[in-house]
Amino acid sequence: MTHIAVLGSTNMDLVAFVAKAPQRGETVTGREFRTIPGGKGANQAIAAARAGATVSMIGAVGNDAAGTRLRETLEHSGVDTDFLRTVEGPSGTAHIVVDDEGGNSIVVVPGANGTVDHLSPGDEGLIASADTLLLQLEIPLAAVVAGAAAAHRHGVRTILTPSPVQPLPPELLAATDLLVPNQYEAITLTGRTDPREAATALLELVPRAVVTLGATGCLYVSRDAEPLVVPAPRVEAVDTTGAGDTFTGALAVALAEEKPVREALSWAAAAASLSVERAGASASMPYRPEIDARFTA
Ligand code: AMP
Repeated sequence: MTHIAVLGSTNMDLVAFVAKAPQRGETVTGREFRTIPGGKGANQAIAAARAGATVSMIGAVGNDAAGTRLRETLEHSGVDTDFLRTVEGPSGTAHIVVDDEGGNSIVVVPGANGTVDHLSPGDEGLIASADTLLLQLEIPLAAVVAGAAAAHRHGVRTILTPSPVQPLPPELLAATDLLVPNQYEAITLTGRTDPREAATALLELVPRAVVTLGATGCLYVSRDAEPLVVPAPRVEAVDTTGAGDTFTGALAVALAEEKPVREALSWAAAAASLSVERAGASASMPYRPEIDARFTA
């Protein structure tokens, strides 16, 4: 089995559903409340584990009830949490208000994720033993840079999701093998509005990139190969939350298994299309047999 390491965030999403979001000073009564385990790091770890890899999560949870549940959620999908530390204080939380028009406002409090600002003893050894390191930007940038650099030193492939989007320092770009932004992130990073132009411009930053385009599919560009356009399977979308993380987790597994790039991209698109047919972020992520059944080369 291939081994994927993920260095990133775990968050508990605290979601209140209301008719209309409150103004400053106003109190409103909500209709429903849900706690949903998330964080881009944890979501990508779960996606990769369900897609069939051995996955290790590097990061931190707090010593609170949310931390216990976040760890259990990862373990339930088979993710190894030996390198997920428990630190004093609260876990990362996202406080989300969803209104009846589907609009939302979100406050993210990093909590334990904020303590992941460096590699801890053992992290580099774990990264060195992996085929691929998955990174996002929901933990302090210093740790992302250190993780990518460590992977690069050991010849381990690095895949970076630039979210939340922000300027990427040269030392991170130099250690990134594959960048996987969505359309918004690609446009923000390059200043180009056309997705194809944005994808091409990304090659000034990194050797390879995949720009995800929602229901349209994705666009792959490389410094040493022709661009590829891979359509997404047509499905009835119920909830697209976590589609990008499902795509990236599955893509990491397929590339680590040395599937050819086009096949890896369509296999990842098959995985992501399954996740949008069901509600939830990590809860909706498919297991390998479903992906294989949906996949058509
Ligand atoms: P996004 O982050 O919205 O660009 O989506 C990431 C990936 O998820 C896309 O490249 C598609 O493969 C898949 N995806 C997202 N939305 C849909 C949809 N409505 N139908 C099918 N696949 C989707």
